[in-house]
Amino acid sequence: MTTEPQGNIVSATWSKTIEPPGQCPASADVVIIGGGIIGVATAWFLAQDGVDVVLCEKGHIAGEQSSRNWGWIRKQGRDIRELPMMIQSHRIWRNFEEETGEDVGYAEGGCYYLAATEKAVENYESWIPTAKEFELDTRVIQGGELTNHFENTAQAWPGALYTASDGRAEPHKATLAIARVASRLGASILSGCAVRGIETEAGRVSSVVTEHGTIKTSAVLCAAGAWSSTFCRSLGISLPQLKVKGTVARTAAGPKILDGQCFDKRVAIRRRQDGGYTVAYGGGGLVHPITPSTFRFAFKFLPALKQEIGTTTLAINGDFFRELATPVRWALDRESPFEKQRVLNPAPSKRTLKIIRRNLNEVFPALKNTDIVETWAGMIETTPDVVPVIGPEESLPGFFIATGLSGHGVGIGPGVGKAAAGMLTGKDSGIDLKPFRLSRFFDGSPIELGPAL
Ligand SMILES: Cc1cc2nc3c(=O)[nH]c(=O)nc-3n(C[C@H](O)[C@H](O)[C@H](O)COP(=O)(O)OP(=O)(O)OC[C@H]3O[C@@H](n4cnc5c(N)ncnc54)[C@H](O)[C@@H]3O)c2cc1C
Repeated sequence: MTTEPQGNIVSATWSKTIEPPGQCPASADVVIIGGGIIGVATAWFLAQDGVDVVLCEKGHIAGEQSSRNWGWIRKQGRDIRELPMMIQSHRIWRNFEEETGEDVGYAEGGCYYLAATEKAVENYESWIPTAKEFELDTRVIQGGELTNHFENTAQAWPGALYTASDGRAEPHKATLAIARVASRLGASILSGCAVRGIETEAGRVSSVVTEHGTIKTSAVLCAAGAWSSTFCRSLGISLPQLKVKGTVARTAAGPKILDGQCFDKRVAIRRRQDGGYTVAYGGGGLVHPITPSTFRFAFKFLPALKQEIGTTTLAINGDFFRELATPVRWALDRESPFEKQRVLNPAPSKRTLKIIRRNLNEVFPALKNTDIVETWAGMIETTPDVVPVIGPEESLPGFFIATGLSGHGVGIGPGVGKAAAGMLTGKDSGIDLKPFRLSRFFDGSPIELGPAL
């Protein structure tokens, strides 16, 4: 028997109690805002170098995007600007369990972008020169060979873009595990501790004001995910960022259909460590809730909106009025917007869940009798070119940004953490961060759109 998805069944990961810290440390070399994968990975690399780092998370570690994602760790199809950092990230994922003894569910079973038509196969061929340039094992496989990669499917695809070494990890484990490792190395990881704002002296960062006290510091990293634009705006910094809701389902353990993960216009599916599958609606199901930011940043986002037509629908709902009611600035001795919403926990779309069930049955009939046992949604945050912002903010010395991971930040997360730690300490991480500077959206540079979300 299959069950109809039942709305918002939240997992223990994000329904758990938030325990505020007793007291904040009085000072730190670096303060990180946000306990998603970017924040914790940066804390981990800083702690490895003996940097005194405090990470403040308003809710609990990995409460937002970093535990709600599909868990794909892929190099294939990435924007060329991201590839050097992604290749480093992949190495870190590969060695993480052996180096740290922490289980993140990392496995390599390959990643497939399945083509519905011969034309789509040709389009995938166009990515092969990039793969060659970066010495990736990505290739296009044709229908005959492709059949051998799948079990129990009624479907025949003419071909696919395929990378055998692309991996996956379990989102409900990975970020928490990195946080534990960082903490063991001396990082202070505080949950239930919203950062309200920054204080300055002589025009540069001098401290961070949290709901539990002030931390003296000269360096702050904003890794606040979907909240980064709101936080930056309160400092007078414009960070173009919009949000898109993605709905996801998890099945019980079921028959094996593939080893890794595949994307088809109807189904995006990944095999889980527990023998179940994380499933989404491949070609659609994303919803952009229209907010005042949509209008503020409309011009910059036009190319991205055009690219996402067909996969993303626009909706007006309570988010519009919530954002409208959010002040641009607030007093730092009062409750801030970040304490009002500890965990961004949008309701999954019932319509999308129905499509997920139907498409799963059609594409992988072997899973027809495998129940969907959990559903959720996550707010993906994105930039106008769908590529992250990582860099120092010139207008406020001591303030750094690492955000806008645009739907693919888990795979590249450890690489971003390494690069961001290098940016904060001046240590060479081997990664050129120029393509990720915030000023690209303001200095007249053309918007070079990366691949879809
Ligand atoms: C449905 C879905 C599917 C996805 N699938 C994939 C995938 O398969 N592969 C992949 O690589 N990526 C995927 N992603 C994207 C990926 O999850 C994100 O890019 C990544 O998790 C972003 O990490 P982050 O640390 O920047 O943000 P987040 O994980 O959102 O963390 C930011 C944290 O900052 C905290 N915060 C905000 N403001 C404050 C404040 N003022 N004080 C203290 N704390 C604050 C928030 O509470 C939050 O916990 C997916 C995302 C979603 C939603």
